[in-house]
Amino acid sequence: MHFKVESAINQSILNNERHLANPLNHRARKRFGQNFLHDRGVIQRIIQVINPQPGQRLVEIGPGRGAITLPLLEACKRLDVIELDRDLVQPLADQAAGSGELTIHQQDALRFDFTALAGNDRLRVIGNLPYNISTPLLFHLVTHSDVIQDMHFMLQKEVVARMAAQPGGGDYGRLSVMIQYHCKVEPLFRVGPGAFTPAPKVDSAFVRLTPWSAPPVTVTDVDRLAAVVRQAFSQRRKTLRNTLKGLLSEQELRAAGCDPAARAETISLEQFAALANTLTKDR
Ligand code: SAM
Repeated sequence: MHFKVESAINQSILNNERHLANPLNHRARKRFGQNFLHDRGVIQRIIQVINPQPGQRLVEIGPGRGAITLPLLEACKRLDVIELDRDLVQPLADQAAGSGELTIHQQDALRFDFTALAGNDRLRVIGNLPYNISTPLLFHLVTHSDVIQDMHFMLQKEVVARMAAQPGGGDYGRLSVMIQYHCKVEPLFRVGPGAFTPAPKVDSAFVRLTPWSAPPVTVTDVDRLAAVVRQAFSQRRKTLRNTLKGLLSEQELRAAGCDPAARAETISLEQFAALANTLTKDR
């Protein structure tokens, strides 16, 4: 469903309360991961680090009641948003009237075709993401990273730690390797539960992801990289010799620079790339 609201009237959204209002007394739905931002300082900080400019193609995932939507629209005059909860569509459109051109896609962001939306442009993707689907959503987004200029997300603090983690620690895993293959990861700031209504049970963090113009390592087949990484981390406590049995011999592990007795959490992106490239070779 598309819903377009256009208007040329300009007013400073951050200076009024419309974007923090609760239209229609909408009740927050847990199954949609709804924790709405109400902290004005956090909203301002988010807008500052995104630094939206007119002419840029911004896309917000999960606009909710519009806490960051309206300041973004005010800055860019044009914005696409993807919102699953249909009860929020009309209130969002009503709030946005007079602030710019808002296109609301009432769809599941997990199935959204960002490449089709981008056309010849590159997208800036933004979202205070529903935490219950954040990992699959990040994996979906990186498949569209060719058309994405950057991404700014609010996520559970632990998810940001996992994305930024380096080999050797408990946070390092499949998400770290695959996100870092596609993007530069910059954790920006932490946000406490009190900034949201209802308050989540976890701390949050805001992060910037910038897709590399060229990947940091050479991988001949990204699907193979994804497969090796998934398999290696399928049983974190086991050695590569065991988890990758059937995929790669001990000799091939060594040839790719990996100790067969090592665990996945010690293997760098470069080493995973070497393992994937070994798999891709003719056998
Ligand atoms: N951006 C708002 C804010 O900061 O207050 C709302 C953030 S809330 C954490 C997450 C939003 O994502 C909700 O509006 C929810 O309805 C929406 N959402 C949940 N699952 C979604 C999905 N699969 N696709 C698109 N939007 C989704």
